Amino acid sequence: METYDVVIVGGGISGMSAAYTLFKRGLEVLVVEAAPEVGGAMRSSVTPEGYVLDWGPNTAATKDPRLWADFADLGLHARLIAADRRGKRRYVLLNGKPEEIPSSPVGLLRTPLLSGAAKLRVLREPFVPRTTASDESVASFFARRLGPEPTARLLDPFVAGVYAGDPSQISVKAAFPSIWEAEQRAGSVIKGMLSGREKPAPGTPKGPKMRSVTFNFPSGIAEWPRAIAAALGPRRVWCGARATSLRPAGAHWQLTVERERMPEPIEARAVILALPAYAAASLVDELDAGAAAALRGIPYAPVSVVQLGYRREQVGHPLDGFGVLAPSGERRRFLGILWSSSLFAGRAPAGRVLTTTLLGGALNPALALQCDEDLIATAIAENAAVLQISGAPELTHATRWERAIAQYTFGHDARIAELERLERERPGLHFLGSYRGGVGVPKCWRNAVSLADQLGARLAGRLEGVAAD
Ligand SMILES: Cc1cc2nc3c(=O)[nH]c(=O)nc-3n(C[C@H](O)[C@H](O)[C@H](O)COP(=O)(O)OP(=O)(O)OC[C@H]3O[C@@H](n4cnc5c(N)ncnc54)[C@H](O)[C@@H]3O)c2cc1C
Repeated sequence: METYDVVIVGGGISGMSAAYTLFKRGLEVLVVEAAPEVGGAMRSSVTPEGYVLDWGPNTAATKDPRLWADFADLGLHARLIAADRRGKRRYVLLNGKPEEIPSSPVGLLRTPLLSGAAKLRVLREPFVPRTTASDESVASFFARRLGPEPTARLLDPFVAGVYAGDPSQISVKAAFPSIWEAEQRAGSVIKGMLSGREKPAPGTPKGPKMRSVTFNFPSGIAEWPRAIAAALGPRRVWCGARATSLRPAGAHWQLTVERERMPEPIEARAVILALPAYAAASLVDELDAGAAAALRGIPYAPVSVVQLGYRREQVGHPLDGFGVLAPSGERRRFLGILWSSSLFAGRAPAGRVLTTTLLGGALNPALALQCDEDLIATAIAENAAVLQISGAPELTHATRWERAIAQYTFGHDARIAELERLERERPGLHFLGSYRGGVGVPKCWRNAVSLADQLGARLAGRLEGVAAD
């Protein structure tokens, strides 16, 4: 039986990033991925007509130079497409029409999205007392700090955009820890965020400001996990391979992996379960019922993604931005519509535009679970109403994600504490994934690199220790 330094179960962006970081440190890694290709939620395709479709995540944004270094190593740097400047303009619906979200204090004063009274209420935020509660829902936290109007018009669609979540169920402490911490520390979100900004170390020469870049690639965002798979090589990435059991074996871990219906035992010094919470639960059931129950207690919201391609002249709206989010009070049948071909060059053939509509979420799960035909019909009707589109699209594509986005609901921290307990009790077992430390792609990447760095250093120390014995 082959023994690896680290087996990573799950070849989504979390698992692939962890594997690549460990590989660069010289460790023997193996990625075990159940699907026929790596990427997990990151899936992309290019149609014969030249539309580039991202089936899951469409954008990622970072200013972390380590990611740019990874892209350079992977040969992806030259392929990076930065979002168009128009992408800075983001819209929310107000009475059925896209209205630009203010991005400056002057914009905030001028926006029709908030009444005069609501704007004054926002300015009073620094004087609202901090909570003494141990946690609070996102809805109640922001209603208390900023008032009900900004919460309904701006925060509600933002939570829908990131978590596809129900703001009255999402824990602010678990989902937005820096905002929670800002209130606890400074007694105000505004004061806390301003005073908490990272200051350069004394004596650091002034350099150009690092700006966050929103990016994608010419064949879609899945180029990234595919490039990691190519760098690791097929010996280190098994696709179509499902881990079915996990148990400790002395100081090591033993896994059973099913490939082409044949069970195959493998052994590792350490195992990273880079899986959705419910899939990780099945692998630790026998090991620890408490941790398995905690993992099963993390709900996922369903989301469907519909892509529509139109001739430019069919669309009345200028599509001059990132896209539009729908507050739940607007009672539309979508969470958001991204203006994909405005955001990144080359998403649609010449003279055509591409929109990406997200439907469903925790507040409207049934919408996400419609059959493809109904999903497409809903998206066409909503695009036509909001973006003044006439006629039928020339391209339609639907993807259904029944368990799309992990929900950081009340009790999330206690569930994660259960996993931390098991990690302490069982050295060499690690939990990684979008249900822990952030659902967005950049956070998945950062958490993966940070875990792999710590684990790599520990394993290298252990290996040197063994050699010295
Ligand atoms: C529709 C949608 C839109 C999104 N939009 C954005 C966005 O625009 N920007 C953003 O930053 N984030 C976005 N996200 C969130 C982000 O894409 C995900 O949180 C992230 O990609 C999750 O990566 P992961 O590696 O943790 O998990 P996953 O991608 O879920 O990967 C887990 C992998 O484990 C595999 N697996 C499961 N069980 C087993 C087993 N027993 N053995 C082996 N393999 C197994 C699965 O096949 C899968 O490939 C979106 C997500 C969705 C679904």
